[in-house]
Amino acid sequence: MKRILVNGKIFTGDKFFSAMEITDDKVSWLGDNQGARLRNADEVVDLKGRLTLPSFWDIHTHPLWIAETIGSVACTPPNVASIKEMIAALKKSPQVGKKDAWIEGWGYDESKLAEGRTPTIDDLDQVSKTQPVYVLRSDCHSCVVNSVALKLAGITKETPDPFGGMIGHFKNGDPNGVMIENGATKLIKAVKEKDTFENVVKKTMKLTTHYRARGIGVISDMISLMAPYDYGEIYSEAARRGLAQEVYLYYSIDEIKRLQLTTLPQPSHPQVHAAGIKLFMDGTISNQTARVKKPYKNSEGTGFAINTVEDLKFAYEFAKKNDCQIAIHAMGDASIQLILDTYGDLAPWLTDRPSIRIEHATLLSDKLLKEFTAAKMNFAFVTQIIFLYAEYAAYQKNLEEKRLKECYPLASLLKSGVTTALSSDAPATAWIKPDDVFASLTAAVTRIGANGEDLNHKEAIDLLAALQLYTKAAAKMVKTDKTATLSVGQSADIIVLSQDLFTTNPVKWQETTIEKMYLRGAEIKN
Ligand SMILES: [Zn+2]
Repeated sequence: MKRILVNGKIFTGDKFFSAMEITDDKVSWLGDNQGARLRNADEVVDLKGRLTLPSFWDIHTHPLWIAETIGSVACTPPNVASIKEMIAALKKSPQVGKKDAWIEGWGYDESKLAEGRTPTIDDLDQVSKTQPVYVLRSDCHSCVVNSVALKLAGITKETPDPFGGMIGHFKNGDPNGVMIENGATKLIKAVKEKDTFENVVKKTMKLTTHYRARGIGVISDMISLMAPYDYGEIYSEAARRGLAQEVYLYYSIDEIKRLQLTTLPQPSHPQVHAAGIKLFMDGTISNQTARVKKPYKNSEGTGFAINTVEDLKFAYEFAKKNDCQIAIHAMGDASIQLILDTYGDLAPWLTDRPSIRIEHATLLSDKLLKEFTAAKMNFAFVTQIIFLYAEYAAYQKNLEEKRLKECYPLASLLKSGVTTALSSDAPATAWIKPDDVFASLTAAVTRIGANGEDLNHKEAIDLLAALQLYTKAAAKMVKTDKTATLSVGQSADIIVLSQDLFTTNPVKWQETTIEKMYLRGAEIKN
């Protein structure tokens, strides 16, 4: 199959062309419209002057959590900033009025709601008293439900806390609808829809359309689990049934230790790859749980550790033996420093990709960055400017001016020479479309927050560099022959945009839609 795309503004990642030829799954020629006329093709596609790019890579995300939120109401800014607005938004759910159907929402974070508290059964009963209502928290671990849902799950005053979770109560002992952590959330999910392998695969299949709408062709699942089903097998089965995106998995170290695994699971479909293991060194800046060197503003707290130095050492042995990567969640400068101190002088065990990925890498002073540049280990940073864009108020509350300026320092990261990529961490971001690449690009280029705040314009980067952080640079994060560029011989992973980012004001970029997408040369229809 030969396809020729003509009359476009094709940006390969380095250069512009007006025409391109795709043979089967690969880019086979680049040139101009005149040259294209001399070539034979089975199909000619008129790009109508549109900007055409390599498809994006979202190299840090949580696709199965996203799959959970598809079809449910976004309880995030900008449309929900209070419990009152949450109730109003849920009332507009298409499920309202459908007998027995669950009214579902996702994405709330009590610290960001105007009322400053977690919603309860009393709030959600205002949405419906006849249908079950369920809202998943932004971390996808906890949830709130209404009285109908509690009743369906058989939860009463007497129900004991389940393993790995807590049932919230009012002062009088009645359950208040708040289900804390996975163990408790599971009690609700069990009556909502059984998490059979088949149901999970079916949900996973919905990701093709989700990512098609965002122009994303490659994704990384950053907390892959083995139970109740191996994520590698969920994605593999989804791929066999047509999931279009390529997937890289980072398995939770806690899971590896719990199951006493000595080798990394091997997914059974070639589109799905086990890339490495994942650790957590701290929490988040917005909750004051990221580990920082100096106490938070107006506080004595310096955050807390999750995985330990012992875990870092265990991970090192495991990753070396398995020829895989270590990806480590670290937001605070104390955690980032600890990673550097533990691994900095060791020799890299991988040469075709970074041995150690630091995820988020929020707080990075110039001094700390210089130490990374000088390290023997091949580190990389996978960062998310979307956090600062969507949650600036929380950062401002917790960090004083000097440290605020050190958050997500994109220009400095690029200058440091340490491999860096952008990504979303969706759906953990309090934003209506947390994995909208265009929102990240806008934030990276303008350094202006969602509410007009200055996100330290000195760390702004240009569009070309920002695009590369979602393509070329992202492809360097994992083991692949793909370069995420549109060069001859490369996989034909292509998106056609509704507007030209190079000539459109960045404030309008989030209006961009994906007109066409090709992955491995095949058109992905909407
Ligand atoms: Zn994450």
